[in-house]
Amino acid sequence: MILRNQVNIMERLAILGGEPVRESPLSYGKQYIDLADVEAVTDTLMSPVLTGGPKITKLEQKLCEVTGAKYVVAVSSGTAALHLAAMAAGFAEGDEVIVSSITFAASANCILYVGAKPVFADIRPDTYNIDPNSIRRLITPRTRGIVAVDFTGQAVELDEIRQICEENHLILIEDAAHAIGTKYKGQPVGSIADMTCFSFHPVKTVTSGEGGAVATNDEALYKRLLRLRSHGITRCRDEMVHPTDAAWYNEQVELGYNYRMTDIQAALLISQLDKLPAFSRRRSEIVAAYDKAFKDMPEIQVQREIPESETTRHLYILRLRPDRLTCDRRQFFDAMKAENICCQVHYLPVYWHSYYESLGYQKGICPNAERYYESVMSIPLYYSLTDEDVEDVITAVKKVVDHYRR
Ligand SMILES: *Cc1c(COP(=O)(O)O)cnc(C)c1O
Repeated sequence: MILRNQVNIMERLAILGGEPVRESPLSYGKQYIDLADVEAVTDTLMSPVLTGGPKITKLEQKLCEVTGAKYVVAVSSGTAALHLAAMAAGFAEGDEVIVSSITFAASANCILYVGAKPVFADIRPDTYNIDPNSIRRLITPRTRGIVAVDFTGQAVELDEIRQICEENHLILIEDAAHAIGTKYKGQPVGSIADMTCFSFHPVKTVTSGEGGAVATNDEALYKRLLRLRSHGITRCRDEMVHPTDAAWYNEQVELGYNYRMTDIQAALLISQLDKLPAFSRRRSEIVAAYDKAFKDMPEIQVQREIPESETTRHLYILRLRPDRLTCDRRQFFDAMKAENICCQVHYLPVYWHSYYESLGYQKGICPNAERYYESVMSIPLYYSLTDEDVEDVITAVKKVVDHYRR
């Protein structure tokens, strides 16, 4: 409900000197921490083990339940999860790996980390997820795998993509950094691809401060991931080149990293996961309110959801129809900011980053992704948004659209 002087608010854009829709700024995303989270962290701080301890074991069990995966390896970030998955997949120099073009750079960086070549696939213009037809067109004899991103939390078209993988002997890594809690045809994300990577950065649906995880059903991949998480050092005699029965003996058999998560972080995440169903429900309510407000506005394109995906939504994408508005995305974004609704843009096509440009990637390779990028912003979506906050966002969008309607 808008209880303030609506006429006044709607009169003139704040960016042109009018009154903003709300007084305090709303960010596009925010973590939710309660007392149970705080107690879980302080209890662990006072416990004897701060890393590599019982909270990690408990977290990994809990993530197995949430994702339906047989094995989960908790790590220090979503990026670490992707790096280890790319290593465990065996991607290496000379290999090509197909990846979504609209994603956070880390989805493609993990391919570079192991010396392989990212090949960018275009998105569908309505779901914004990787287009299986684009994947098919990019396969060459060098293609070894796919990194498919569940963008905004919506599952990618897993049946089609898995079939492509089967036909071409490819390994599927699902980047589910946005998608904890999402199901595809009733099956949780994490139990479907060869490996599924999660991020628990504070902006994501549940957080451990920094953190990530890899889920898999494959025991060999699991063992490799465990070893790579901790320097490539093993304590299993059957993995050693020089096994002994000395109790102290361990052996580094390959080059790994320290990508371990602490028990302090694990305790926070276990407590956060208790709230995942509530987080998911509230996010769906807010998405429904936005969809309802925008679906009949010809100036706005609402993201299409495939019926197979039962989505825990991480981001709400406001997509402008440039032919219906006299402003561009930059002007719309700045006008929203002046109304105290702070948006963000997800994402620049990865190959537009100057680093990728320096590797030789050129503009024009994914036209749907490039058109998408020019017309979008993410509006606030998180658990603790109140109904009034949601109304403010809708009011601001309508106010800016009204001003710039063609
Ligand atoms: C957040 C994110 C990552 C990286 O996760 P971190 O935990 O920040 O390292 C990777 N991929 C996508 C799609 C993300 O949104």
